Amino acid sequence: QGESGRVLDTVVIGGGQAGLAIAYHLVQQHRDLVILDAHARIGDAWRLRWDSLRLFTPAKFDGLPGMPFPGDRLGFPSKDEQADYLEAYAQHFGLPVRTGVHVDRVRRDGERFVVESGVRRWEAENVVLATGGYQVPRVPEFAGRIGSSVLQLHSSDYRTPAQLRPGPVLVVGMGNSGAEIALDVSGSHDTTIAGTPTGELPLRHGRAAARFVLPAVRFAGLHVLTLGTPIGRRVLPKLAGRGAPLIRTKRADLDAAGVARVERLVDARDGSPVTAAGDVLDVANIIWCTGYRDDLTWVELPAFDDDGTMLQRRGVVDAVPGLYVIGREFMYAMASATLPGATRDAAHLARRMRARRAAPTNAST
Ligand code: FAD
Repeated sequence: QGESGRVLDTVVIGGGQAGLAIAYHLVQQHRDLVILDAHARIGDAWRLRWDSLRLFTPAKFDGLPGMPFPGDRLGFPSKDEQADYLEAYAQHFGLPVRTGVHVDRVRRDGERFVVESGVRRWEAENVVLATGGYQVPRVPEFAGRIGSSVLQLHSSDYRTPAQLRPGPVLVVGMGNSGAEIALDVSGSHDTTIAGTPTGELPLRHGRAAARFVLPAVRFAGLHVLTLGTPIGRRVLPKLAGRGAPLIRTKRADLDAAGVARVERLVDARDGSPVTAAGDVLDVANIIWCTGYRDDLTWVELPAFDDDGTMLQRRGVVDAVPGLYVIGREFMYAMASATLPGATRDAAHLARRMRARRAAPTNAST
């Protein structure tokens, strides 16, 4: 029973967009639940990102069930506006979020799940993993061989150019974060971006796109490029791990801002980074925009294949009845790890959970 003094119906681990969206539906189902989140404040997963970050999805796509995102529906919220919206959402619906709780273990004890954070523990019939796919930074191994005269940051720790040392900046990774951060620092520092282009949205991002084109992109991401369609089954596995295409920023924007482009980094030599072309770069700062890794090693349940990939179908873990997952890349659709995708997947998962409660012996569907 632990902290709550009783066996809960559900513990949701992670109180970001996905965790709050599923919690909304579970409250509608009158379940006894708690949402545990590691951050000090709801929305901090957004608040703690770089200062100039704006969402690439318009406000009309960024809301959660039951409460539209306020204000200009064709505008692109700042990261703080998104964070504040999530906090207001949890308050509005009275969602039972416990902040400052980093879950470090989930295991089974008989029929129940036990969720642990240090010495604190919760027991529940169901667990939903909603810890996000963009929380644990990934940097290449050779970063450890770069000299201490170079300041190294991961994009998750980057906030503003004022953090950087005087001298040239190397941004590593030419995905969406890399391109935006390179533009951000180019006003104050000589900036180079290293990486293989991941493609870019073939139109100018902005209000007109939000009105006419992004709805079609959203539709394709939610309904066409899914594991439920032949084209989705063909395309999605090829996209996994390739990095997101540039959305707001264009390669031409980088050129116009004077950002130099080099091939991807492959090594470090004598304390300096080396590109695939063999060039040794002399820089004062490196910002690693090299993405995130999925770390669910603290989930001590038979829910993974030999490669550590979670075995799930649209968020339902068949091998562990009562265990669910939401918010991961390509879980079901291209858009599963975006705000509209997590919100849509939450509604589906809630239906599956209700069906299982109605027919508990039919555990997995
Ligand atoms: P998150 O928002 O990451 O929330 C996960 C929560 O889980 C966090 O609050 C964290 O504290 C908590 N947590 C993690 N581990 C634990 C643990 N062990 N114990 C307790 N709590 C834990 N998507 C869009 O649709 N539009 C955009 O414009 C957009 N921009 C993005 C920009 C960046 C830089 C990044 C990285 C992502 C962006 N995304 C965007 C994707 C978007 O962040 C995710 O799709 C969305 O946040 C998914 O919500 P989530 O709840 O799954 O994850």
